This record gives sequence, C-alpha cells and structure tokens, in this order.
Amino acid sequence: MHDFEISVAHLLRGSERASDVVLQGNIPGLFVTSSRILDDAVIRVDGRVEAVGEGLLVSLEVHAEYVGECVRCLGEMHGELAGRSRELFIEGEDTEEHYGFRGETLDLRAAVSDLCVLGLPPVPLCREDCKGLCQYCGADLNEGPCGCTDDSGDPRWAALDQL
Ligand SMILES: [Zn+2]
Ligand SMILES: [Zn+2]
Repeated sequence: MHDFEISVAHLLRGSERASDVVLQGNIPGLFVTSSRILDDAVIRVDGRVEAVGEGLLVSLEVHAEYVGECVRCLGEMHGELAGRSRELFIEGEDTEEHYGFRGETLDLRAAVSDLCVLGLPPVPLCREDCKGLCQYCGADLNEGPCGCTDDSGDPRWAALDQL
C-alpha cells in the first residue's frame, strides 16, 4: 500500500460505521500554470470515511506547502494551500461523478491530487500589494523607486529628446 491507501475492510463488513484517517506523503508532479507542489513536499490529509448505502463517503481536508512565481514581480514565493471536499467512492471504476475502489482498499491518491491542484493559486502574488516590475526599465519596484515616472514615459523617447 502507498501513503494514501487505507484499508476499509471494517467499514465494508459493517463492524464500524465510520473511521477517521490521518495520512501524509508525497505526490510528485502537481502543478498549475504558475505554482506547484514540490515533489518532496509533505501533503497532509485529515479525513473521515463513512459507510453509506451506495459506498463510502469520504470527507477530506488537505494541507501542503507550495512554491509559486509571483505574476507581478516574477519572484519566487511560498505559501500553504488548504482544500476540503466530500467525495463518494463506489466499488468499481472511477466515473465522472464519483471515484471508484476495488476490494477492501480505498486509494485516496487521485482525490488528494485533485484537491491539491484545485487549491494551487493560478495567479500567485508574493504579497497582496506587490508593486511588480517597472514597465519601462524592468526594475523590481518592491526594492524602491527606479527613477522612471509616469510622466517621463518611455525612456527610449526620453533618450531621443536629449539628442
Ligand atoms: Zn511579487
Ligand atoms: Zn523604471
């Protein structure tokens, strides 16, 4: 069994109605355009699995650190994502509506992956008020003013003015 597989034999046989799960592990290759979870970052999962008429109802909460590239200043930034969901698992194959499972083992890896990807910011900012890069000279404006002003306009024109 890998990090995100759990035995549900006791739930399927009816000896218990629900059980809590606490898991952690790595899932390589989770990313969106400008942010990603590093392959060796620990993904933590708290969940509860309940036997219901059709199958198993799983409540999941995930937490993981991610690395992003700020869309304004292009600097590297770090954050923590959190996500929650409730998913129905029904014996058999995965379908569009629910996840599947086989035998007495529930594999939460796909559900955890999906939740992590949903929680990654597609447009990360290193901070809410990131000033970004100067559109004229490319300086990082978080480090202070660069000397260009909006009135000076394009520095290529300013250079021509001096001729
Ligand atoms: Zn930034
Ligand atoms: Zn500038």
